[in-house]
Amino acid sequence: MAQNTSPLWQVTHNGVTTGKGLVATRKIPKGTLIIEDMPLIKFDTRIPSAEYDDDNSKFFRQERKGQANIIQKAVSGLSEEDRTKFRDLHNRKESVGDQRVDDISIAENNAFDFDKNGTKWLSVLTVISRVNHSCAPTAYVTAFNTVDGVNLGRTKLIASKDIDVNEEITCEYSFRRPWLDVFSERQRECWRGWCFVCVCRACHEDERPRVLREWGQMRDMIRDILAPMPAPGNKKALSERVEDAEVLMNNLAKWGFSDRRVANLYARLAELNDRAGRYQEAYNAALEGLYIEGNYYDHDEPDAINERLSAVLAKAHSKLV
Ligand SMILES: [Zn+2]
Repeated sequence: MAQNTSPLWQVTHNGVTTGKGLVATRKIPKGTLIIEDMPLIKFDTRIPSAEYDDDNSKFFRQERKGQANIIQKAVSGLSEEDRTKFRDLHNRKESVGDQRVDDISIAENNAFDFDKNGTKWLSVLTVISRVNHSCAPTAYVTAFNTVDGVNLGRTKLIASKDIDVNEEITCEYSFRRPWLDVFSERQRECWRGWCFVCVCRACHEDERPRVLREWGQMRDMIRDILAPMPAPGNKKALSERVEDAEVLMNNLAKWGFSDRRVANLYARLAELNDRAGRYQEAYNAALEGLYIEGNYYDHDEPDAINERLSAVLAKAHSKLV
């Protein structure tokens, strides 16, 4: 049978959280690369990364005051065609009629940030910037840091769970806030960062009691699983911990959490299995974690989680052959 090569997504108003968004044109299995996108524009905010993380509205305040006109310069450097694509990202209802201010709003609402040489850079992508936020997403975007900067801003959108045909493709916007945050904290972050009230499936009023309960339990489990490991001889404690970790990973997968923060938990699951002498399970968990980690790096950048996963994988492999 011929492979279907048409895009897995379409940009539409229908069945999306807000404005235009992406929906799946067919079933997308978890782990699928949905699209790889290049930045339409990217620019250096010239604000140190740490400072930017503390107050991400500072840059846009400065731009509105016309202090450096970084966005304006980036937009005027675009080709006619790309400028149209950029301005098409705007929600017309929000237009204030001043093109300079509208361009700043487009950048503020659609940019992804990444670090380079100690300062924060922003990039606006043609397709991925259209993906709406959900606190319980169906996909994740990869981080943007590369060692040599050649691929700077190249971004992948990957399914974090099985996505149904016509289901919206969403991602979580903020990687800075603590994971599985409570409702009020998530809302504050969405408002502070992107000026919207989240109405995703986890924030929906009918869902809220269940989310509070389930996510509260998951937070407790994460804390327990990351606590110091039981001694190798303590078989009972070890097997309980492994069981809990497996339940947690299944719950996280169900909610669509499969981004980089999950790799840390896979590392722990792999280590627990290794300590319990369950080498096949250790191998599988390490491989899953490395797969997620691998999506974040185009180069062999040394990374603590990567090293832990690789160590377990190598050991488990030697035990299994
Ligand atoms: Zn939400």
